[in-house]
Amino acid sequence: MQSASASRSPAPSFAPADASVAPSLAQFDPELAGFIDDEAVRQRETVRLIASENYASRAVREASASLLANKYSEGYPGARYYEGQQNIDKVERLAIARAKSLFGAEHVNVQPHSGSPANLAVYLAFLQPGDPVLALDLAHGGHLTHGARVSLTGKHWNVQHYGLSRETGRLDYDAIRAQARELQPRLIIAGHTAYPRHQDFAAFRSIADEVGAILMVDMAHFAGLVAGGVHPSPLPYADVVTTTTHKSLRGPRGAMILCREAHAARIDKAVFPGLQGGPHNAITAAIAVCMKEATTPEFARYAQACVSNAAALADSLLEHGFELVTGGTDNHLVLVDLRSKGLGGKPVAQALDRAGLVANYNAVPWDTRPPRDPSGLRLGSPAMSARGFGEAEFRQIGAWIASAVDSGLDEAVLARIAGEVRELCVRYPMP
Ligand SMILES: *Cc1c(COP(=O)(O)O)cnc(C)c1O
Repeated sequence: MQSASASRSPAPSFAPADASVAPSLAQFDPELAGFIDDEAVRQRETVRLIASENYASRAVREASASLLANKYSEGYPGARYYEGQQNIDKVERLAIARAKSLFGAEHVNVQPHSGSPANLAVYLAFLQPGDPVLALDLAHGGHLTHGARVSLTGKHWNVQHYGLSRETGRLDYDAIRAQARELQPRLIIAGHTAYPRHQDFAAFRSIADEVGAILMVDMAHFAGLVAGGVHPSPLPYADVVTTTTHKSLRGPRGAMILCREAHAARIDKAVFPGLQGGPHNAITAAIAVCMKEATTPEFARYAQACVSNAAALADSLLEHGFELVTGGTDNHLVLVDLRSKGLGGKPVAQALDRAGLVANYNAVPWDTRPPRDPSGLRLGSPAMSARGFGEAEFRQIGAWIASAVDSGLDEAVLARIAGEVRELCVRYPMP
């Protein structure tokens, strides 16, 4: 029963509730809030070289933390399974329209929860279990979802792998074509997670046409460079393009599938109801923000810096006697082969972390060491380029890595570098 005072209450206010009613995170859960504060310090005071990481803007983070997450929206704009979609439909349509225009895509699905489910949705859309697929080997720069044995994609489909040429250290399109003729794959996957060069999407298109395969390009790593106009776009060549939104694109943790109109219905059905339930609406909103940011001149400058900074880092490492997979870089990635230095990737990555230089160990092609302790170190330029580092700073990073490695990972040297890293980082505020 309603009380008299409740029925006379004033018009509802949407102002934030009083702190005593709605405690902040720090008030309600200081233990957890402390972990987040510590992570902010770590992100601010270290040089982040993990090629898949970045800094999302304040606007992106605001949208991704918004109350849009409170809403369930199974289905697509105009065709939902729950009512109350007046605002959500506008948000999702805006994200889609911006992504189509940014990349020149005929159709975009912005609902995949992340890159791996986006790729799974493509398998689901086009393949029957056991169908043949041709993709880049994990040890040569492919992703787990490109049919690695430990991945669902490697268990449910017959994925064969192409790799780099031993002679050139690059992709050999004649060899890939010969493999495709032999396998007759239903799906060919291009794109990568650790190949420091451009790929020839026209060559992949011609191979796919010859064997009647669907061509998917996974541009998770380099989508931001494509958006910024400093990397060839796969859109004119691929039937389907998948991408994460949180790597070089600097958006929220999410993904998109871009495809030709002819495949739109299959792709949408594969994402929902094939693979997922409700979309993460706050993330959809943040993707819309990210797509808007990616059209700005600042973003184009950032994308250009990703490429020139990776090149400066590669040069600096070569000057210090390091060996690089493919001998250099065309994109945001540098893959160091540490075998000539007599050290494994894992101890080097762990030592560099103590020096404030955060990277990941990585397999190199024809690695002679096990995947848990491979011979490579993967370095990426996006995060620090987003923070404003230029070529001089990236050359300095190369010099730091050289002093650490050439000292045999001496703790005193690592401590000295950590101090210098902190000093440099505070001059480049994080977004
Ligand atoms: C990162 C990545 C993915 C997977 O993305 P998650 O969001 O981690 O699931 C897929 N493909 C490639 C090439 C990637 O680099």
